[in-house]
Amino acid sequence: MQYDHIVIRYGELTLKGQNRKYFINQLADNMRKALRSFPNIKLNKTRDRMYIVLNGEDPKAIMERCQSIFGIHNMSVALKVANEEEAIKEAALKLLKESEKIQTFKVTTKRSNKDFPIGSQQFNQILGSHLLVNTEGITVDVHQPDLEITIDIRQEATFLTSEKVDGAGGLPVGSSGKSLLLLSGGIDSPVAGYLAMKRGVELEAIHFHSPPYTSERAKEKVLDLAEKLAFYGRPIRIHLVPFTVLQQTIHREIPHGYSMTVMRRMMMRIAEAVAKRRGILSIVTGESLGQVASQTMESMHAINAVTNYPVVRPLVTMDKKEIIAISEQVDMYNISIRPYEDCCTVFVPKQPKTKPRLEKVEQFEVKINVEKELETILPLIETVTIEAKNEQQQELDDLF
Ligand code: ATP
Ligand code: MG
Repeated sequence: MQYDHIVIRYGELTLKGQNRKYFINQLADNMRKALRSFPNIKLNKTRDRMYIVLNGEDPKAIMERCQSIFGIHNMSVALKVANEEEAIKEAALKLLKESEKIQTFKVTTKRSNKDFPIGSQQFNQILGSHLLVNTEGITVDVHQPDLEITIDIRQEATFLTSEKVDGAGGLPVGSSGKSLLLLSGGIDSPVAGYLAMKRGVELEAIHFHSPPYTSERAKEKVLDLAEKLAFYGRPIRIHLVPFTVLQQTIHREIPHGYSMTVMRRMMMRIAEAVAKRRGILSIVTGESLGQVASQTMESMHAINAVTNYPVVRPLVTMDKKEIIAISEQVDMYNISIRPYEDCCTVFVPKQPKTKPRLEKVEQFEVKINVEKELETILPLIETVTIEAKNEQQQELDDLF
């Protein structure tokens, strides 16, 4: 079947009243970037849906790519014809004949264009009998048809569609502002980033590494994870913080039971400083309540005390099993489990306090000149921008 359009339906976007136009523009912008390897397509935005004009490009490949663009509720391939009875009949018949293994069908007409002279019900019957007369062995089933043909008669034209394919849901990346993701090479934080993006958040990332204790490959792993995240949204600027010297200072100056808490507090302070510089208003982490020593309520309280920024924790109530399921589904798990050391695992004390007390943390921390440490470390941060690979690169990678 020579489909000429894909209809994109927004779902939740329709709730957004006045902001709607802004959301739609953001979605269109994201789609243009994600679909740049299909140079012939055109996007037509309307209030309640978007059309991809295919101009000969492959609808299947485009729908596949669209499934990872947030803000798309569902989509269908479509055939566009003039608002004329004969043209619609002909297209519907073609659609039915070219569908495979169909024994029953149903026609649903939606007539938002009231200038079209035939009512929906009546047009269903006209089309139904036209299809019955011109095919063999196919019957109507209004309850569970093998094929439902939807005839959407609009002002500009009529669109015929059949199957609806689910999109990724959520809100277009960028429509909810920007967050700074604390990105480790683990399983959790990339998933947290993914979920934040799903709610329309554009991400920058910050990663702490400790060369030579952590290897170049550990860093590559994080860049690969950032690249996966970029695939679901926009290019990701990642700030790489050389953390070795500061970690050594903490290791030397702070009682070991509390070094983890102090290290996390320093991470948070550095993250806040970077966010401030970049005009970013919140921080995202992959913390999940009770998972490890640094993620008890007491720990979170002591760590969170250094910042007034909202710290968004998309995984806070999730089980590890649920997190892993998402990680696998979004194709990050195999990267996350590559066995390279993280800066935290290198310096992690044998028995970190699971219930650190804030007054104690503050007492111990007097040994560290926080202002000076920040001044020293901020200029050493290296920033790179990671873009999603395009289709061709991905195929080559999969091949080798
Ligand atoms: P993850 O799987 O995300 O590494 P985790 O279960 O290992 O999480 P922790 O090591 O306690 O948990 O880390 C908690 C959160 O702190 C992480 O989810 C991440 O957001 C942040 N974090 C940890 N290590 C780093 C790092 N090296 N660079 C940046 N952020 C980090
Ligand atoms: Mg970790």
